[in-house]
Amino acid sequence: MEVSYVCQAASAPRPNDDFVIATESFVIVLDGATAPVGVDSGCVHDVPWLVARLGMNLAGLLLREPRAALVDVLRGGIAATMGEHADTCDLENPDSPSSTAVMLRCGAQTVDYIVLGDSAIVIERGVGASASASASASATELTVAHDNRTAHLPDYSVGGVSRLRNTDEGFWIASNRPEAADKAIVGSIPIGDVTRAALMTDGITRLVERYGRTWLEVLERMDKYGPREVVADVRGEELATPPGTYRGKVHDDVTAVFCRF
Ligand SMILES: [Zn+2]
Repeated sequence: MEVSYVCQAASAPRPNDDFVIATESFVIVLDGATAPVGVDSGCVHDVPWLVARLGMNLAGLLLREPRAALVDVLRGGIAATMGEHADTCDLENPDSPSSTAVMLRCGAQTVDYIVLGDSAIVIERGVGASASASASASATELTVAHDNRTAHLPDYSVGGVSRLRNTDEGFWIASNRPEAADKAIVGSIPIGDVTRAALMTDGITRLVERYGRTWLEVLERMDKYGPREVVADVRGEELATPPGTYRGKVHDDVTAVFCRF
């Protein structure tokens, strides 16, 4: 698997709450959640600490146990990260730092994926691409693994989001509940079928959710011009959108990863 990516903060002096680790056989993308101003998270660490630790723990498990189910890897990664600050921080606090977690792995037979939270994975499979040497156009199909429950919460107040976090009524996220891994979207596709894939945080998925691009267009743009191009696309769209059109920050941290098989 050939991997290229961009991972950068919304604006230069701010820390980047997105995180990526890639090898030739797996990609991990994390998007840490910034605690609202004035909210006590019970944690002495910042979000970049959390995503770095979670990323390291997930990568360690993937390297040590390359055949482990990704749900088990994610559950173990959350638990190990909790263990790293159980002595200093209150992990019972409902506003404990959190992160989305998505992983894509090339196994011996399959490409495996897992998505927890509102980051996304798009996988293209060529249908009949290898079946015939004829010049007939080969079809492709996209698998889109994307959990957009955070876009449909019944309550976006600080207390409301806190109450809805890691519940079936709200959304599931990597934080202080290892069993959140069991709520992730998971799947496997025969490796010979997979042609291209992309992983992205919600800083990029807004191209689809807000600005009318298709998942295939985003994948094609990354393939033709590199991940940097979709970052430029999203910044252009954000600047062209009237202020106040959407809830939350104008710019978000962005991670765009392109994989070719
Ligand atoms: Zn902590």
